[in-house]
Amino acid sequence: MTLSRRKFTTLSLAALSMPVFAPAVLGQAKPRVVVIGGGPGGGTVARYLAKDSNGAIDVTLVEPQKNFTTCFFSNLYVGGFRDFKSITHNYDKVRKSGVHVAHVSAVSVDRDKKEVLLSNKSKLPYDRLVIAPGIDLKFDSVPGYSEEAAQIMPHAWKPGSQTELLVKKLNALKDGDTIVMVCPPNPYRCPPGPYERASMFAHVLKKKGHKKSKIVILDPKPTFSKQGVFMEGWEKHYPGMIEWQDPKMHGGIKGVDPKTGEVKTDLATYKAALANVIPAQMAGKIARDAGLADQSGFCPIDPENMRSKIDANIYVVGDACIPGDMPKSAFSANSQAKVAAMNIRGELTQSRVFPARYSNTCWSLIAPDDDIKVGANYEPGEGKIKQGPGFVSQKGESDDIRKANYRESLDWYNGIVADTFG
Ligand SMILES: Cc1cc2nc3c(=O)[nH]c(=O)nc-3n(C[C@H](O)[C@H](O)[C@H](O)COP(=O)(O)OP(=O)(O)OC[C@H]3O[C@@H](n4cnc5c(N)ncnc54)[C@H](O)[C@@H]3O)c2cc1C
Repeated sequence: MTLSRRKFTTLSLAALSMPVFAPAVLGQAKPRVVVIGGGPGGGTVARYLAKDSNGAIDVTLVEPQKNFTTCFFSNLYVGGFRDFKSITHNYDKVRKSGVHVAHVSAVSVDRDKKEVLLSNKSKLPYDRLVIAPGIDLKFDSVPGYSEEAAQIMPHAWKPGSQTELLVKKLNALKDGDTIVMVCPPNPYRCPPGPYERASMFAHVLKKKGHKKSKIVILDPKPTFSKQGVFMEGWEKHYPGMIEWQDPKMHGGIKGVDPKTGEVKTDLATYKAALANVIPAQMAGKIARDAGLADQSGFCPIDPENMRSKIDANIYVVGDACIPGDMPKSAFSANSQAKVAAMNIRGELTQSRVFPARYSNTCWSLIAPDDDIKVGANYEPGEGKIKQGPGFVSQKGESDDIRKANYRESLDWYNGIVADTFG
């Protein structure tokens, strides 16, 4: 057998100590799926495809990180309710479930040849490609902010070292210091996330006995997720500590200066001992570079199956896609991933495909055992993923309800982590 150059580069992946594509090279016709991104979106697609196809599909997950720290529950780490290890997971069980895992980055996608170029120069051919790279940050959406500035004013909106830096700075604060949060415009990952984070900041300051410290939230949006119940909780647990400002109140966020720690609005300049700047967001670079995003910066999909509207051989799940009425959340990513996996399996192995059904719930912890939630079911409709019946926590709920919400959120975390990482 003569090996072509393309097959040879594919074979060189063996250097990554992964058993890739031997069947394809030997001429067997196992359909190949490549998944880019090992978060709750990509990880779930990869595991469900391998598991449900009983090995009939050759699945490769491309993810540079050997250890994945979840953004979800990172606020609980900020609040001291979880340690860092408990929100960090590896891919050992993903491998055991029959998925080839390559710890490299995908550099580009050749959509004509149906190949993914990897950072080690190998190429992975695919029959179907799943792109789930999460978000990239638009650093320049906040004047003065940059990737370098994030080392001083952490965003912590991508997990890992940024979250650790945020916590280090939080723990170093003295009574009387000011935390300034700059919130992102829509659409962004985890709509209630910034406000849960503010609650966790306040919880830590209260626990340390701070009497004079303040948290100023500068928001480019006029309203935010679960606003009424958040604000009621802030008044109950942290009276006078958290000040939320909408655009009418601050007049516009003019910029940040990492050298002085200043955050400027149209009406005031704040000296922040800790500035948490969360800029605007867009789909991860690999999705944009592959030409799968529209002018919004995110990737349009067919709500019936999560297939890219731009390339029928590619599926986009998670934060990188345009999810219609669904929020960008790990719960949504996991739900979309199951729909994508079912449809890909149907296409490649003729297995039965059921109508797409999606769901989401976002829990937010305001204070110990005081947890609020918002959620809904979704299905395709009006050309998008359309919201059906939903629910949201109400003001004045009993302690028991809030405590039960917290327990539910812990169960959900264990469930989604098992779904994604095995
Ligand atoms: C503070 C905070 C709190 C949150 N809390 C919640 C919550 O309580 N509940 C909830 O449901 N959601 C929550 N979220 C949102 C949730 O974390 C995201 O919506 C979710 O992680 C999106 O999953 P994803 O798989 O699309 O992307 P990600 O989780 O970002 O995973 C993408 C993966 O792709 C990889 N990747 C990127 N580019 C490449 C490339 N070129 N090649 C290979 N791999 C690549 C990355 O390394 C990454 O591992 C929270 C987010 C934040 C910031």
